[in-house]
Amino acid sequence: MLLFLDSVPYIIIFIFGIVIGSFLNVCIYRLPLHESIIMAPSHCMTCGRKLRWYDMVPVFSWIVLGGKCRNCKSKISVQYPIIEALNGIFYVLVCAVNGLTWVSLLYCLMVSALLTLSLIDWRTYEIPFGINVFLFFIGIAATVSDRGNLISHLIGAVCVSAFLEILFMLSGGRAIGGGDIKLMAACGLILGWKQIILAFLLGCIIGSVVHTIRIKVSGAGHMLAMGPYLSAGIFLAALWGNTWIGWYLSLLGL
Ligand SMILES: [Zn+2]
Repeated sequence: MLLFLDSVPYIIIFIFGIVIGSFLNVCIYRLPLHESIIMAPSHCMTCGRKLRWYDMVPVFSWIVLGGKCRNCKSKISVQYPIIEALNGIFYVLVCAVNGLTWVSLLYCLMVSALLTLSLIDWRTYEIPFGINVFLFFIGIAATVSDRGNLISHLIGAVCVSAFLEILFMLSGGRAIGGGDIKLMAACGLILGWKQIILAFLLGCIIGSVVHTIRIKVSGAGHMLAMGPYLSAGIFLAALWGNTWIGWYLSLLGL
């Protein structure tokens, strides 16, 4: 009984996460097309049938419908329930690490933005400007609410992004995308300098490992979208970066 009561907040957070996740699906499809993310009602991509509320219950509707449209029986991408479930799981992880705090709220918003831009960047090699602006505002909120570490947030905004900007200029824009630079600036403002440097290193490691495997296995092209890997690094550094940095420093005897 106690165990059940303990898990109630997390169940609520998970449900909240998958509901937001279904909004992210809308953003993932419509932002690259510059379609409205609020106005147009949800409809089947094949037959155009307007979806009823019971067809839009996150995760569960997809399972109940067996991944097919109620009307025309065409397949509904498995990406929908996966994004919804991932967003729910990420919210639970954020709150498990940071508790029910202001920081958790900001991190949840950040994680949803990262999930959305990762999918869009993966498909289109472009990070929508609006998502970086959204992250930048989260960064301002994080900085204002953590004024004791003001300098860390400000240095965080420039330390990785300035390095990438130099790479960008030296390579004529081939080594890195402008969207990646803005992403690291905005998330550096959120996390501060230690965690954004760790995030960048993790992103580079994850990116090179995964990309090498993809080229070997599927012969994927050499074009590399950095957004998903940087996002993975940012997520890991935001949640466990301080712990890992602490371990590392203690190993060095600092
Ligand atoms: Zn249909």
